Amino acid sequence: MILILLGPPGAGKGTQAQRIVEERGIPQLSTGDMLRAAIASGSSLGKKVQGIMDRGDLVSDEIIEQIVTARIKEPDCKKGFILDGAVRTVGQAKMIDRVMKKQKRELDVVIELVVDEEELVNRLKRRIEETRAAGKPVRADDNEETFRRRQAVYREQTAPLIPYYESQGKLRKVDGMGSVAEVAAEIDAILDEFTAD
Ligand code: AMP
Repeated sequence: MILILLGPPGAGKGTQAQRIVEERGIPQLSTGDMLRAAIASGSSLGKKVQGIMDRGDLVSDEIIEQIVTARIKEPDCKKGFILDGAVRTVGQAKMIDRVMKKQKRELDVVIELVVDEEELVNRLKRRIEETRAAGKPVRADDNEETFRRRQAVYREQTAPLIPYYESQGKLRKVDGMGSVAEVAAEIDAILDEFTAD
């Protein structure tokens, strides 16, 4: 099962991906997490991407190509994987198509979490308050200004993936505004179509 989760920042892709990892035993490939790990390790890649991420802009397709192609060659990706926020431009989608073809594998389905962006801003504000109240660190790009910038970047650079995957017949839409359990049930119904014998 090779799955892409698509949706604006804060749509709940990460939450759903983690659940699928636990229930279906395939890894979650979050380029955001990989880039944050690079920053935390102080690597040259981390230094290159920190400012871009703090602003809410996208890092280059070349960087994403390097980290994604290296990651999907690892043995735990043999059974499949979830690309969580890892495909954000049409250039990256074409790159994934090329890599899949080369490896004689196929992307099964792209699930778009359809959400109300203003409500997501409200959710972000609540999440930041809760994180602070719990005494935990808040992500550097978790502030309203950067969040709105990331939403705009999504509309401009990532939303064109919707017609791209629609034309490949791979796109499925899910209402992302329900509870975690409701969204999970809709996603599971789709995934079961691809895993049924
Ligand atoms: P995320 O945790 O998925 O929201 O990603 C956080 C930030 O990492 C984004 O705002 C981008 O700056 C960067 N990033 C993550 N994945 C990608 C990608 N596939 N292409 C470009 N930039 C990315």
